[in-house]
Amino acid sequence: MLPEASSLWLLRLLRDIQLAQFYRPILEELNVTRPEHFDFVRPEDLDGIGMGRPAQRRLAEALKKHRSGLKSKNWVYKILGGFAPEQKETTPPSDSHLSLPEREGGLKCLIPDGAVRRGELLGSGCFGVVHRGLWTLPSGQSVPVAVKSLRVGPEGPVGTELGDFLREVSIMMNLEHPHVLRLHGLVLGQPLQMVMELAPLGSLHARLTAPAPTPPLPVALLCLFLRQLAGAMAYLGTRGLVHRDLATRNLLLASPRTIKVADFGLVRPLRGARGRYVMGGPRPIPYAWCAPESLREGAFSSASDVWMFGVTLWEMFSGGEEPWAGVPPYLILQRLEQDRARLPRPPLCSRALYALALRCWAPHPADRPSFSYLEGLLQEAWPPEGRCVRDVTEAGALRMQTGDPVTIIEGSPDSATWKGQNGRTFKVGSFPASAVTLADAGVSPATRPVHRVSPAQGERHQGSVDGDGGKAKMRDVPSARAQRRNVPLQRMKALLSPASPPGSGLPGPRENPPTVIPWECLELAKPPSPPETSCPTPSCRGGLRRWSWACTESRTRSARQH
Ligand code: ATP
Repeated sequence: MLPEASSLWLLRLLRDIQLAQFYRPILEELNVTRPEHFDFVRPEDLDGIGMGRPAQRRLAEALKKHRSGLKSKNWVYKILGGFAPEQKETTPPSDSHLSLPEREGGLKCLIPDGAVRRGELLGSGCFGVVHRGLWTLPSGQSVPVAVKSLRVGPEGPVGTELGDFLREVSIMMNLEHPHVLRLHGLVLGQPLQMVMELAPLGSLHARLTAPAPTPPLPVALLCLFLRQLAGAMAYLGTRGLVHRDLATRNLLLASPRTIKVADFGLVRPLRGARGRYVMGGPRPIPYAWCAPESLREGAFSSASDVWMFGVTLWEMFSGGEEPWAGVPPYLILQRLEQDRARLPRPPLCSRALYALALRCWAPHPADRPSFSYLEGLLQEAWPPEGRCVRDVTEAGALRMQTGDPVTIIEGSPDSATWKGQNGRTFKVGSFPASAVTLADAGVSPATRPVHRVSPAQGERHQGSVDGDGGKAKMRDVPSARAQRRNVPLQRMKALLSPASPPGSGLPGPRENPPTVIPWECLELAKPPSPPETSCPTPSCRGGLRRWSWACTESRTRSARQH
């Protein structure tokens, strides 16, 4: 068979180094048609086509020479090179003699087109559709995956969509964290496809809003998810990245107790001494999740991600409700800044956790806790676990049987009635405090009752956006001995925070829930309403007001569809 004109360079290069027999496998199995495609080829891929390591070294050398004059013209190289985070960690190659170009920003894996079979449609986003898939490894093993394919119009992919797609690839290929969705590799086919770890249980938002008989998620599990999220976000911060689209719709359930941060389409590297990314053009942003500075100036930072973390927390505890539903996007900034309004405390959310959310919503970015600090605050605000010591059948009380696990949402030593979630029925309600004892501490870190402290009071040092090392003050700490003795919950010291979060301008949660301007009062005289951005993709149906333009930007055109 005659070689295609466009891949003659490959045949020549291989002939020069006496490896012409690999021309077809490289072309057809690895899908390499241009020199820059070798950026995505791993030694394992070449092993897979039977090329030995000495031959691979010859190939790498030849490629280096071939590419020395071409680098600046490579489109993939340009795009990925331009977008790849500067802090990329380079792992030493397993074979120290190997010098394929993967360390120049190479992908985790180039996957041959035929190795991935696409199945059912999982959803669609801005620039692609996501299918369930099966990836057959060279060993013959099959791995369930999710495949995101670049949406291609009749005239091929639009430049910005291709750029966004590759940007997402370039960001994801450098990330490795237990709670960040993993990119397996890229298929350089038509269309381009991202092969990702499959999250078989779908998005957290879908789980939160699943109708009965699906039971609500236990409060303790939501707290676990928050801790996983804070850990993943702290990791992204250390990589110098801002996510900008943190929301329960972008948290995927890899297992019933594991979430993964996904959707890196809006991720950007942080720049400058202030560690910010400022939007340079008209782009829609998820308004109701955004920090005031993002709405005002298009400015994003780790601190604006922390704000979004607070909104995500709110979503989790309100069963996936839409934040600021009913408030037009153009009024949200006014509510946040002029009225100092904040989302109200959801019934499932303890006051300690709500105080933590309020810290995330501090008006000034520098006053918000960092993600690494949040991990500690979450531990301190963890709802204690108890166990029911008698059947509770009183009218109006949460029904419980002896031995039922109970997560305490609200309680104080002065009150005879407590609020909690029955871990067997998942129902939430009030019950006599005397009916519950604290569970033994220390079995599982996720359920261990920990030092109770006000997140509002706990953090004193907030100067830096990231990496602050302030220590929380401990107050009213139940002794470990007391916990071991299963002391009735009533006798424990106060669990709750009386303080108001500095900078929030809101009263503390001791007596009353923080004052939030009721939404019905928010409907002031409306300015003429600009048309909202609509997204044509099925995944966004019903979420019309999720996305809107940053107020500083014109509405002339959108690079993305929403
Ligand atoms: P955007 O338009 O900002 O990209 P999106 O999150 O809706 O938003 P995608 O990331 O393309 O778009 O995902 C589309 C849908 O596919 C989502 O609803 C998500 O639940 C599902 N999905 C995406 N990745 C996976 C995955 N790895 N495993 C399972 N489902 C996934």
